[in-house]
Amino acid sequence: MTATRTPGMPFVEDGVLVSTSPATGAEAGRLPVADAAAVAAAVRHARDASAWWQSLGFDGRKARLLRWRALLVQRIEELAELTHLETGKPVADAIVEASAAIEHTDWAARNAKRVLGHRRTRTRLLLAEHAGHVEYLPYGVVGVIGPWNYPILTPLGPTSGALMAGNTVVFKPSEYTPAVGQWLVDTFAEIVPEHPVLQAVHGLGDVGAALCRSGVDKVAFTGSTATAKKVMGACAESLTPVVLEAGGKDALIVDADADVNAAAEAAVWGSMTNSGQTCIGIERVYAVEPVYDRFVAAVVEKAGKLKLGEDLGPITMPGQLDIIRRHIDDALAHGGKALVGGANAVQPPGVAPTVLVDVPEDSAAVREETFGPTLTITKVADADEAVAKANAVPYGLGGAVFGKANAVRIARRLHAGMVAVNSTLSFVGMGSLPFGGVGDSGFGRIHGDDGLREFARPRAISVRRGPSPVPVMTFERSPAQISRLVKVLRLLYGRDS
Ligand code: NDP
Repeated sequence: MTATRTPGMPFVEDGVLVSTSPATGAEAGRLPVADAAAVAAAVRHARDASAWWQSLGFDGRKARLLRWRALLVQRIEELAELTHLETGKPVADAIVEASAAIEHTDWAARNAKRVLGHRRTRTRLLLAEHAGHVEYLPYGVVGVIGPWNYPILTPLGPTSGALMAGNTVVFKPSEYTPAVGQWLVDTFAEIVPEHPVLQAVHGLGDVGAALCRSGVDKVAFTGSTATAKKVMGACAESLTPVVLEAGGKDALIVDADADVNAAAEAAVWGSMTNSGQTCIGIERVYAVEPVYDRFVAAVVEKAGKLKLGEDLGPITMPGQLDIIRRHIDDALAHGGKALVGGANAVQPPGVAPTVLVDVPEDSAAVREETFGPTLTITKVADADEAVAKANAVPYGLGGAVFGKANAVRIARRLHAGMVAVNSTLSFVGMGSLPFGGVGDSGFGRIHGDDGLREFARPRAISVRRGPSPVPVMTFERSPAQISRLVKVLRLLYGRDS
């Protein structure tokens, strides 16, 4: 007799991880579960492959990544269909997600040599007889652990940066999206068939934990704050460095001179796309009093048109439905009003768009990550109050500001790693911008120059080119030479400016 399965809930059967569509329950993927020995073997193979991958140099690796990028573009519909099946997100959303991943792969390929290539440093008067060199060396093997909500974009950011820096990668996809993860690894192997430069290991959370303890040289984790702490704890045992991309509770501020209609459109997109299952999704809006009513009316009109099952897919992780229901119920029980959706919004496997106003600032819907298509809108007196409220949560991932005269100034005051001005989420699609948070949203960066440096360790080399004018780093120095050093120091650094 076959047990009844919840659509979307992955299960393990005879050592095989089976993922299913959250919309229909149809099987999406069937991948062998890796035990600790298999994880260790993958890391060993990655280490063996690493010398060859490094020997290709920046140009050789760039050529491979550009070919992989082209393959991703050529087969983007296939990738989007698989992502739709495994996560439930609309195919169009999967294509948009893939396009951002493709941009980052291209950007890392084209910029790694500039950012990580050998450079000489400027010689200064002290130790002027030395030349300085900096080289950026790959760590070796990087473990990438990814979530299910953006199963293409979230692993490809760190993976393309790590690969271009010269590392090999062992990737643990979420148990909800192993088929998408394996698809990415298989297509990479079509372009790089010689050695296992990018591998996947599948299974539940314990496989991620095994990867942290496998001797990898760095871990790039994307997922919840709670799991990020476990990853950091496991990595602490071996002082394995980590980059942690964790949860968020992003706010949008609407200032008095904002284009209200554009702000409403972006608020609805930023909060409801991917059914709100977006780490940088807008979950709160603070609108200043003069535009509040117009803004709320525009959001209600736009969100009210969205259709569950068409614009919004199901909630990928069935367990999240209870959290979303709890946040909505709690908001309503404490004086909040639903202008769209509300008490009956949770309709498994999905959630109807929900717009809440008058929700107390200390309620779960305002303070905790909801990860559903819900939005709270709060009236504030001015931008100062908006900034104070936006910053009053422990998360600090992204944010957005709509306005004209002061929008960038307001953006700079947000306690967040990234802020979009007059748009939402846009920073994640720009190859040149670093991505990452502060506070409970984690630390370290992927994407951009900083994201490339995250996957390389700098090595400094000083090369002595001649005799020292002030030879003090020797036991053979004289008291007169120390006096001369003091004179030189006074000359160079003894004044205030
Ligand atoms: P989880 O933290 O539950 O899981 C993330 C990954 O970690 C999964 O592959 C998971 O495996 C694995 N894992 C679970 N337990 C352990 C462990 N003890 N040691 C190592 N790895 C482990 O996150 P979700 O997959 O539910 O993703 C949603 C979360 O991700 C949200 O909080 C969201 O905000 C955040 N996120 C952050 C982003 C960012 O860039 N800042 C981007 C996207 C999402 P398994 O699935 O098998 O349990």
